[in-house]
Amino acid sequence: MPKGEKIIPFLNYYLDLFKKAQGKVFATRDWHPINHLSFKEQGGIWPSHCICGTKEAEFTPKLKLPKNVTVISKATDPDKESYSGFDGTELCKKLKKNKVINVFVAGLAIDYCVKNTVIDAINLGFKTFFLKDASQGIDVNPGDVKRSIEMMQNKGAIKVKKQNFF
Ligand SMILES: [Zn+2]
Repeated sequence: MPKGEKIIPFLNYYLDLFKKAQGKVFATRDWHPINHLSFKEQGGIWPSHCICGTKEAEFTPKLKLPKNVTVISKATDPDKESYSGFDGTELCKKLKKNKVINVFVAGLAIDYCVKNTVIDAINLGFKTFFLKDASQGIDVNPGDVKRSIEMMQNKGAIKVKKQNFF
């Protein structure tokens, strides 16, 4: 994603805060089979990306994920798109098992995976925060990012920036 790396220092800032607060970190990732339906070659809308097991699908080493991070792989079925980290994964089960109440969501892209993850988290009963500066959108259609943020807030997400955190 163009300039996607811009959010890394912000993600690392929050990861450090969560470490201090002994928060649990779950890292969701696209983990697509080579013939995933979202790829242009299969008639989808995205260039092929995040093919499971490849270097490109790994988290960047610049991201300071804690040693005890729980990795959640999603969109692993060739015939199904999953933008939300909750869709077809054990994320909800694992959050409940860890007695999580507050969920803080950040990453790529605001208008797709972040938005869908935030909305699912709200619908599943978590108090949900959207970390704006640690997220970035695509804006395939101009205004998508703005509309996505409004939609998340209308559903009950709390928008947070580094400056007003805690
Ligand atoms: Zn994908």
